[in-house]
Amino acid sequence: MRIRLLGVRAGSGSSSGAGSGAADGGGLTSCIAVDDDAGVVRLVLDAGTGLAGIADELGVREPPPILVSHAHRGHVAGLRRWCDADGAHRLDVRVPAGTVLPHDLDRMPTTPLRVGDHGIGPFEVRVRAVPHGRRLTYGFRVSDAMGAFAYVPDHEPQQLGRGPHGWGAYHPDAVDLVYGVDVLLHGTMADAARDVPVPAGHTVAQYAAGLAQRCHVPCVALVHHAPAFDERDLDALAERLAAERGLRVLVGRAGDVLVPGELGRFDGR
Ligand SMILES: [Zn+2]
Ligand SMILES: [Zn+2]
Repeated sequence: MRIRLLGVRAGSGSSSGAGSGAADGGGLTSCIAVDDDAGVVRLVLDAGTGLAGIADELGVREPPPILVSHAHRGHVAGLRRWCDADGAHRLDVRVPAGTVLPHDLDRMPTTPLRVGDHGIGPFEVRVRAVPHGRRLTYGFRVSDAMGAFAYVPDHEPQQLGRGPHGWGAYHPDAVDLVYGVDVLLHGTMADAARDVPVPAGHTVAQYAAGLAQRCHVPCVALVHHAPAFDERDLDALAERLAAERGLRVLVGRAGDVLVPGELGRFDGR
């Protein structure tokens, strides 16, 4: 499998990626494509404005399933263009059971996605609920014979306890998603070393590194970056986390390609 990062910014997505270009990863909001070994996209996680990056690949007879973690705008805004297009009915959009999309997207047909372990295309996909405000929100684990990754963009583990550092509990659903994967893609909304409040519904990047370490994961990719972080902040944060935790820590950028099986062999840890 191969992961393509199409959008890595948190936010409303209402500006359609009109950020300051390269300096903020293009400003595109959450979306990742997962390709099979032949390089064909077989699964999409989240549908923020980064979804536009694979518009041509969606306009096919059997488009890949799009699994939405939750209906905050930065995770669904990319569906907007498909609501008016003739092809809207052909998109296979799966949302947490009971989710209602924002009103401008309510013409988009969806099917409910439930917690469980699913076979989707060539992949095993594990779906678990994670705390994030009051909205039902999912994290995902995707695996095949060659590798595995977890994707948890929005996460407020403090709802389930302080955990060993006060950043939130390493709770069973998080461990279920993350244990033993090659790379954890986790939201990056705050830095414990900064004297800035953690945005509601989120935790600090240090939690992601701690969860990775707890779950024997050698690599963290920082995604779903808060608008407050510029590229230099993110590079410095990644460097610090790597040194503190003995992990490989990557700053995810729109356009990056990750191959989980190869990341897992990085240093033999
Ligand atoms: Zn959210
Ligand atoms: Zn979000």
